[in-house]
Amino acid sequence: MKRERVAIIGSGPAGLTAALYTARAQLSTVVFVGKLLGGQISTTHEVENFPGFPNGTTGPELVENMKQQAEKFGAKFVFESVTEVDFSKGSPFLLKTDSGDTYSADSVIVTIGANPRELGIPGEREFVGRGVSYCATCDGFFFRGKDITVVGGGDSALQEAIFLTKFGKSVNVIHRRDDLRASTALQVRAKANPKITFTYSTTVEEVKGEASNGGPAIVKAVVLRDVKTGQTYEKPTDGVFIFIGYDPNSWLFKGQLALDESDYMKIDHLMQTSAEGVFAAGEIHDSVFRQAITAAGDGCKAALSAIKWLAEREESLQPLDTEAVAAGD
Ligand code: NAP
Repeated sequence: MKRERVAIIGSGPAGLTAALYTARAQLSTVVFVGKLLGGQISTTHEVENFPGFPNGTTGPELVENMKQQAEKFGAKFVFESVTEVDFSKGSPFLLKTDSGDTYSADSVIVTIGANPRELGIPGEREFVGRGVSYCATCDGFFFRGKDITVVGGGDSALQEAIFLTKFGKSVNVIHRRDDLRASTALQVRAKANPKITFTYSTTVEEVKGEASNGGPAIVKAVVLRDVKTGQTYEKPTDGVFIFIGYDPNSWLFKGQLALDESDYMKIDHLMQTSAEGVFAAGEIHDSVFRQAITAAGDGCKAALSAIKWLAEREESLQPLDTEAVAAGD
């Protein structure tokens, strides 16, 4: 079994920042990358709102730089997913990966995020980054003067629809029912906005696109279905922003760590979960801000808490193999 002082589950901005801090604090650190190094941000083509990049950067470049910075201080990256954890006996904690390897770690930082829910319709995945988006803050700017479609009827959909009117010529909110789920205050603001229109009792069945000027295919229309009449029709649009909820990736921790009613992880102001020595950062607990920079800030806080927590227990921590070798044992 491999032993580490800190195990970080997840490799988005929260996990990569946490790794930088714990490795730089001379703590042996392993990052379990999961399916995709960088998580959601690595699928974002242009990142213009991460401070320090006056000309912007790309998701993959940002992630690679953050990884290299953590590696420089000794963080190890394991390109596997954690499939099982045992927090029941306290620290050291046990973690199993999909390769069958078992690790033990004196502290754990959980940063495996949340995924925006998908509609699961034809064209949706194909046009992500080319007209389909799940983040208005990230991508709204690219739709200046365009006709935008927003899918959903909750707070996120209306809040983001209002935000998108800063850029778009028009914003059409498509909701599957007659009644919006969003709060009255947001409904009043959205309905008062002259750029926003609503299409009720309607589902989006398909996203369609085509290539123009020799470039890659981009979104040109959505196929809609009136659920009352069953009639389907095509509506031209330049962008489809989907806000139908988020699913935190917390299934691995059910029964072991306290989750709220929407399955987000419960943490205290020190990023500590319900298990002492296990910390969480980023979208796994944050259903509100969901930004790369807020996740990075969270990762820093969780790492500082883990560093302090380990320092307070230094006397009782078993030496790691590497420390034993260094000490000539
Ligand atoms: P949400 O409240 O769960 O709303 C999701 C919306 O998407 C609902 O209108 C739902 O329709 C629709 N939907 C779900 N699955 C769909 C599908 N397959 N096809 C079409 N439509 C679908 O999610 P949210 O808006 O992301 O909000 C999440 C939480 O964050 C909420 O508690 C919310 O209050 C909070 N939040 C608050 C603010 C704020 O206070 N300013 C801003 C954002 C989020 P139905 O209504 O028919 O179920």
